[in-house]
Amino acid sequence: LASRDFHPEDTVIKIGNVSIGGGELVVMGGPCAVESPEQIDEIAALVKAAGGQVLRGGAFKPRTGPYSFQGVGVEGLIMMAEAGKKHDLLTITEVMTPEYVDVCAEYADILQIGTRNMQNFDLLRKLGTCGKPVLLKRGFSATYDELLNAAEYILAGGNPNVMLCERGIRTFETYTRNTLDLSAIPVLQSLSHLPVISDPSHGTGRRELVEPMTKASVAAGADGLIIEMHTDPDNSMTGDGVQSLFPDQFASLLRDLEKLAPLV
Ligand code: PEP
Ligand code: MN
Repeated sequence: LASRDFHPEDTVIKIGNVSIGGGELVVMGGPCAVESPEQIDEIAALVKAAGGQVLRGGAFKPRTGPYSFQGVGVEGLIMMAEAGKKHDLLTITEVMTPEYVDVCAEYADILQIGTRNMQNFDLLRKLGTCGKPVLLKRGFSATYDELLNAAEYILAGGNPNVMLCERGIRTFETYTRNTLDLSAIPVLQSLSHLPVISDPSHGTGRRELVEPMTKASVAAGADGLIIEMHTDPDNSMTGDGVQSLFPDQFASLLRDLEKLAPLV
C-alpha cells in the first residue's frame, strides 16, 4: 500500500485548510516538550506569526535515561490543544504506547511516532484505526525498506494518512547528533506516494546547522519540515535546547523558505 507502484499519484493529506504533500511546503514548529501553558502559548503565537501551520510539542517524551524529565503527560496535551486552537494552528504530538493513542488522538491533529518506536508493531497497528494522520519517524538505524514496512502496518490497518519523516540516522560521525540523510527524501518519494517531512533539528542536534539543512531539505524536495524552536532554549526541560532555534531565527528561516517554495 505504501508503494508508488500501487498508488502512482502523490498522497495529499488534508487537515482543515492545510494540505500536506502534493506541492505545498508545510512547516511544523515548536518546542521539544510542552512545559507549561504560558510556554506553549507564547511559542504558538511565534510559530503562527512566522507563517508556520502546525505546532509541535511532546507531552510524553522518550528519554534515554529513566531519571530525565519524561514530559508533563495528558495535561500537556490539553495545554497544546488550547494553544493550537487560540492561534489557529494544527498540532502534532508524540504517542509512545498503544494505551495513549486514543487520548492523544482526542487532543492532537497529527500523531507523531518517534524514531525509537518505528518498529513498535502493536503501536503501529493501533494507529491504523486512530482516525488521525500519523507522522512516522525513521528509526535511527532503519533502512528505507524497514521504514516503508512500518508505514505499511498503519496503512494496512485502515489509515491512509501517513507521512514519512527523515530525522537523521546513526553513523560513525559524532560531531552531529545524527546524520541527516538527505537522500532519503528523493528516494522515499520515488518508492512511495506518501509525503516526506524532514527534521533538521534531531537530524543534526546543532542549532547552527538547522538553517542550512532545512534549506537543503527543501532543495531535495521535502514536503515539509518539523523544526524545534524555544523562547529560552538554554533552560528548556529536555536537552534539545542545543538544537532549538531562537524565535527570530525561526522567523527569518521561514522568510527565506518563502523564496524557495510556496508556503501553504
Ligand atoms: C522529538 O521530536 O522531540 C523526538 C523525540 O524525536 P525523535 O523520535 O526523532 O528522536
Ligand atoms: Mn526533541
